[in-house]
Amino acid sequence: MIIKNATIIAGTELLPMEGYIKVKDGRIKEIGSGGCHNKNAVDAKRGIVFPSFTNAHVHLMDSIAPDAGAYEKIGRRVGKGGIKFQILEEKRKDIPAGIGASLKEMTASGTTAFCDFREGGLNGVKIKPRIKAGPSGIILGRPGGGDISSVLDKCDGIGVSSVADYSKNELKDIKNATRKKKKILAVHTAEVKDDVKAALKLGPDFLVHMTNAKSASLEAVFKKKTPVVICPRANAMLGVGLPKIKELLENTTVAIGTDNVMINSLDMFREVEFTFKAARALAKDHGLDARAVLGAATINGRKVLGLENNSITEGNVADFVIVKRKKYLYDPVLAIMHRLASGDIKGTVVGRSVCIKKS
Ligand SMILES: [Zn+2]
Repeated sequence: MIIKNATIIAGTELLPMEGYIKVKDGRIKEIGSGGCHNKNAVDAKRGIVFPSFTNAHVHLMDSIAPDAGAYEKIGRRVGKGGIKFQILEEKRKDIPAGIGASLKEMTASGTTAFCDFREGGLNGVKIKPRIKAGPSGIILGRPGGGDISSVLDKCDGIGVSSVADYSKNELKDIKNATRKKKKILAVHTAEVKDDVKAALKLGPDFLVHMTNAKSASLEAVFKKKTPVVICPRANAMLGVGLPKIKELLENTTVAIGTDNVMINSLDMFREVEFTFKAARALAKDHGLDARAVLGAATINGRKVLGLENNSITEGNVADFVIVKRKKYLYDPVLAIMHRLASGDIKGTVVGRSVCIKKS
């Protein structure tokens, strides 16, 4: 399959070029500049082709409770015994359908991989939504409902809600069991209070949030080069502040997530716009490059989650989105950041699966 007449956001540098992409057996065989005379090629009509989004942090179980308790404090909403958990208990039967609907929403908005932090211990990681096809998911469970090893056997690792939720011994068990099974260990940290030091002691594969991390904690994370997944729109919605986005982007690998479906929508177009503008505003930096945020929302998520690199590079897996080109656009990367939306998606190519609208 060939896609011609495209504006390709190419390579890990995300540099725009005009040309064509040849895909064979689910991989990018060739990227060429200029025209392509193959009559069977799909004409992108100057549409923009960019690596699919990776939603690197989401809680899908609460897809059944969007905006519940929107004016309550974070602890009352998603803390232990909070509104979220009351609804999950009351409407347990609806959870698989809720997750299924969210997966469809992700596909429709250009997200082809995600990392779901699943609550509910062993029962939580056993939930399987009934949908035919959807984005690739990394599922991180929580201890509970059996020994930790049985939870790990059913998922890709552990997502610790907060170091404050566990005793020292419990944290030690989580760390040892996860390492023994060679699975992912991720930790929510400094969403409200700075608990980065304790989180780093677990040797996590990545941290989530860093919203209220103090300078010394940021330094410690940068020194270890621990990747960080930020969720700026969810943080803003919860009224807990915003992380130092520019500093994080410049000093470690940053990926982006939309966090709880209860709190925030899954649309990564909205997330990149908010993140990019918030980063510029907080740092008072009009020169902050949009590509740093686009890379965080696409390629870096794959890197942090240990998935295949989806930068548009010859030899890589084909995993990209095609969006319509609007008239008069000067900068295709900025167009993705704040002028285009999921409704502008013309198609997606994920490995051997090709879905391109005709019009
Ligand atoms: Zn979270």
